[in-house]
Amino acid sequence: MLKDFKPEIAIIMRSDEVIEKFGLKRITINTSFGPVHRCFIGYIYEVPVLIIYGRFNGEKVPSSQINFEQTIEAVKNSGAKKLIGTFVVGGINPNMPQGSVYVLGNLIGAGNYNIYWNQNTPFHNAEMYEPFCAELTDQLCEASRKMPFKVKENAIYVCFNGYPRIETKAELDFYNKQGWDIVGQTCDPEATCARLNQLCYAAVAVQIDDPSGRADYIDSLKKDIAKSAYVESIKSCRERTTKIILQFLKDYKTYNCEICSKMSRKNNNFREFPDSFYD
Ligand SMILES: [Zn+2]
Repeated sequence: MLKDFKPEIAIIMRSDEVIEKFGLKRITINTSFGPVHRCFIGYIYEVPVLIIYGRFNGEKVPSSQINFEQTIEAVKNSGAKKLIGTFVVGGINPNMPQGSVYVLGNLIGAGNYNIYWNQNTPFHNAEMYEPFCAELTDQLCEASRKMPFKVKENAIYVCFNGYPRIETKAELDFYNKQGWDIVGQTCDPEATCARLNQLCYAAVAVQIDDPSGRADYIDSLKKDIAKSAYVESIKSCRERTTKIILQFLKDYKTYNCEICSKMSRKNNNFREFPDSFYD
């Protein structure tokens, strides 16, 4: 498995180019849910990294069935204490075109996702007032400012697990009225699992569509006008978040986070009621 290699940063990212360019080696990391085979390790600009290739462990499932806990456990078992999630998201604000890039500042959980909790382990709710690590996010923002394209910082991501489906117009209008920036289906369970495991977590996202693009496409179907796909390819969108990650690694300054590792609300003494009430 990992032997003497201890990753400083784990990144959930699908980039064949990065794996090839930096000669990353595929390994398998075992977890209590079974092995995770899509792990790649190596050095990028002298930083030891673990890249996890996306969120699907072999199976094809809707987002509500993704095993987020398994991915986070693989990160934890690798010894990495810091994790960056990269996301392809939907647009909310009609003024933001497809291809817009974001560093996340906070999130809204609009899904009814849940977690299976082993009742033999003490339960606690994650402290998520600030869902992203401030230091890790700052370093991502600094890298973003060196990009040849604009990056919106402090973006609000609303997380919604479809049936599976993407959002209705009414939902997007509502999200836009709230001032939220982007919508996706995976950041919230992932961020929460990272926090439950005391990892520093931060996220970057790229917008694959926008509401007016979706409306135009449907309009072209109604009018029977042949129109090529309204979305920029996922691959070319992803190149932007990959660029930020590479700049981030180039400039990375190691740090010990005193906050995320302590931000847990462990309740090891949970009782149904006090012992004296038993007889
Ligand atoms: Zn932190």
